[in-house]
Amino acid sequence: MATQSLQAVDHKLLVAGKWLETGAWEEVPSPYDGTVVGRAAQGDADLVDRAARAAREAFEAGGFPQHERAAVLDRAAELASERGEDLALTIAAEAGKPLKTARVEAARCVDTLTFSAVEARKLSGGTVPMEASPAGAGKLGVMLRVPYGVVGAISPFNFPLNLVAHKIGPAIAAGNAVVLKPAGQTPISALKLAAILLDAGLPEGWLSVVPGSGSEVGAAIVEHEVTGAITFTGSAGVGWGIRSRVPHKKVNLELGSNAPLIVHADGDWETAADKAQIHAFSHAGQSCISIQRVLVHQDVADAFVERLVANVGSLRVGDPLDPETDVGPLISPGDRDRVKEWVDEAVAAGAELLCGGELVDQGRCLAPTLLGSPPRDAKVWCEEIFGPVATIDRFSDFGEALRMANDSKFGLQAGVFTRDVGRGLEAAETLEFGGVLVNEVPTFRADQMPYGGVKESGNTREGPAFAVLELTEERFVTLQG
Ligand code: NAD
Repeated sequence: MATQSLQAVDHKLLVAGKWLETGAWEEVPSPYDGTVVGRAAQGDADLVDRAARAAREAFEAGGFPQHERAAVLDRAAELASERGEDLALTIAAEAGKPLKTARVEAARCVDTLTFSAVEARKLSGGTVPMEASPAGAGKLGVMLRVPYGVVGAISPFNFPLNLVAHKIGPAIAAGNAVVLKPAGQTPISALKLAAILLDAGLPEGWLSVVPGSGSEVGAAIVEHEVTGAITFTGSAGVGWGIRSRVPHKKVNLELGSNAPLIVHADGDWETAADKAQIHAFSHAGQSCISIQRVLVHQDVADAFVERLVANVGSLRVGDPLDPETDVGPLISPGDRDRVKEWVDEAVAAGAELLCGGELVDQGRCLAPTLLGSPPRDAKVWCEEIFGPVATIDRFSDFGEALRMANDSKFGLQAGVFTRDVGRGLEAAETLEFGGVLVNEVPTFRADQMPYGGVKESGNTREGPAFAVLELTEERFVTLQG
């Protein structure tokens, strides 16, 4: 099938309902071949200040009740659905995500906005049984959920549309105005989503999208006196650094991982191998829950590895805009070289190269790579690879597999294949992760489920029903006649 393309145009940034040029433009290069996909206007700290103050004004002016917020989000979901193919092409062009996966992300964005609309309608507080103690007799106790006012949002490159929707949708649903900084590599998807929200009727002031550097625009959002809560998705180092800079603020962190997949001999290991072929390598492994560490029971290990290596050999690597492509490029040549270096280091230290390991397609992409039994101090085992690489280790005892899975500073999601209910329960109780998925890969995510990590992987839960709780504060009120 023919490769599709996107017209390279200039994209203004958005401050309080107005599209602006700033005189500073940043080219967005295709991660695949470096051609310019478009240019985005760049903001600075002064523009963040303007956006934050306009957001606070809009919030204080009020007049955007729950039913109107829900209607805007519903309408935005409809528009995102109508514009789905353009959004998918944008994701593929600027993030280098294969078009077939980019289409899935565009469809998921519709879900995220729809679930946000549901939460805008449902969000409520609760009552406290004051008469349960003599001290409270005669009082009514009510818990309100109060928005922070202005939420500062910072998003990563790897899901440039749907993770922006996970930032903006719940924040608006909860009654906050938003100032968002998208990733430098992928500003266009975020600006197109902002246009959708404006077209859907979002009132001026409630959203600004300011592309720019993390060190200036990101830092200005984090430190601005007006942003009461920060919602950040990105790497662990940057995320925890942000939290330490503003200890008095609510800082919600969705960070990285090195997700384990445990395959027991009593489980459906064929399905596990078939899913691993896709979910260790989709978007070239640049997902926070990409399968990185496969742990397989020794009784089925040879057959599992044989099936997985054969499957991986059939993946089509190359141009993300070709609808047949399975695995595209890394986000930058620097990242491609880093991942290749980690693979080479692991092999030099004794890991077995089961497949891949080399650059292909004129050096633009790293071939999907499987490594057997890397040393425990190899980066491919203990760090987040964020590339098309997975390791495979064998185990004989299920408890040992659980310990190996927990041998990580991260803890986002873990997957376990077993037909034994007892083992599934043991995994759920023992694995130190934000999500344990039995008979599913750790890469699974539906947008309404609670999603987030423990340990260095984060401190919050997204999924609109959970994010609205994280983006509101509880205020207790007693009433007495
Ligand atoms: P990154 O940390 O490099 O950048 C994320 C965002 O932070 C970008 O917008 C960047 O410009 C901004 N930033 C950088 N320095 C900053 C600073 N000092 N102050 C404020 N903002 C700053 O991450 P990335 O490379 O874009 O994304 C990949 C990472 O994101 C991976 O670690 C991945 O696991 C993680 N991730 C996590 C989830 C999740 O939901 N848990 C989802 C997707 C990606």
